Amino acid sequence: MTFKAEYIWIDGTEPTAKLRSKTRVLADGDELPIWGFDGSSTNQADGHSSDRVLKPVFTCPDPIRGGDNVLVLCEVLDIDMTPHSSNTRALLTEVAEKYADQESWFGIEQEYTFFKEGRPLGFPIGGFPAPQGGYYCGVGADEVFGREVVEKHLDLCLEAGLKISGINAEVMPGQWEFQVGPAGPVEVSDHMWVARWLLYRVAEDFGIAATLDPKPAKGDWNGAGAHTNFSTKAMRENYDAIITACEALGEGDKPLEHVKQYGHGIEDRLTGHHETAPWNKFSYGVSNRGASVRIPWQVEVDRKGYIEDRRPNANVDPYVVTRLLVDTCCSALEKAGLV
Ligand code: ADP
Ligand code: MN
Ligand code: MN
Ligand code: MN
Repeated sequence: MTFKAEYIWIDGTEPTAKLRSKTRVLADGDELPIWGFDGSSTNQADGHSSDRVLKPVFTCPDPIRGGDNVLVLCEVLDIDMTPHSSNTRALLTEVAEKYADQESWFGIEQEYTFFKEGRPLGFPIGGFPAPQGGYYCGVGADEVFGREVVEKHLDLCLEAGLKISGINAEVMPGQWEFQVGPAGPVEVSDHMWVARWLLYRVAEDFGIAATLDPKPAKGDWNGAGAHTNFSTKAMRENYDAIITACEALGEGDKPLEHVKQYGHGIEDRLTGHHETAPWNKFSYGVSNRGASVRIPWQVEVDRKGYIEDRRPNANVDPYVVTRLLVDTCCSALEKAGLV
């Protein structure tokens, strides 16, 4: 007997990488082999030496095909088996290992927007729907667009065993969110990339495209972000660690270093309007959805917990945002003697 393995990888498209996948038929009992692909078609190689390597790093049941079929998330390597320059996962695993003793957890809120026939789902031809107000967590055919896809996606993620933790309708019509986590930096990112792949894949069956465009409708419409909730063991135990992490994110060049890597087009989304802080002005605060980093109300009450970095765009690479947060915050916590 045979089974199908869908090899999934992140390409070299600039400024924002895309997901790619192809199928390999394997015999029952086969190990998942290293595989190759044409890097010249994915902006990962020149035509004259185009082979790139797919190294399986995370596997789960394939809920689309069912049976014994699997999804296989891969890292991209050069043919000398070193990480390709587009391979941000390899950079993360190094940093994650360095600070593994601090036990970082992440919960990422992935916002996204459905498109059909060139406009956001729920937008009328050549015009606009009623202004924002009733759509967020709404109910009813006049408020909500695409729920059948969203429900199907949630079921598929659960069947695949991904750590998806919730879904909600967002502020703009056709805009939705799912959350992955809490989980460690590598795990939350692997699960997020597979959850994104499943989203695009299931939306196909409905003739709908899902996009992570951070500002899919210009004007008075919310953008799409990927709020990244973060804690370490110390932060889950004491408030000084929470404040130390927030201060570290605001220090010196850190705000710009982070924002520059939080997804293409971030200046268009972090305007200071629509529940965002301006991209070039760092702030943190309790309960404040207009701050760069929010300390949830309950965290201040409990004097422990996590922080929410509200800056990352929907199109951020989770391997990058988790690496930056671990690097910046864990090194500061270490320096402050809080670990
Ligand atoms: P919001 O109120 O901003 O919409 P959500 O409920 O959408 O927040 O998402 C919060 C995310 O934070 C979830 O993915 C949740 O798993 C995660 N989370 C909860 N506690 C922690 C923690 N201690 N460390 C990291 N992430 C956490
Ligand atoms: Mn949320
Ligand atoms: Mn949201
Ligand atoms: Mn949030």
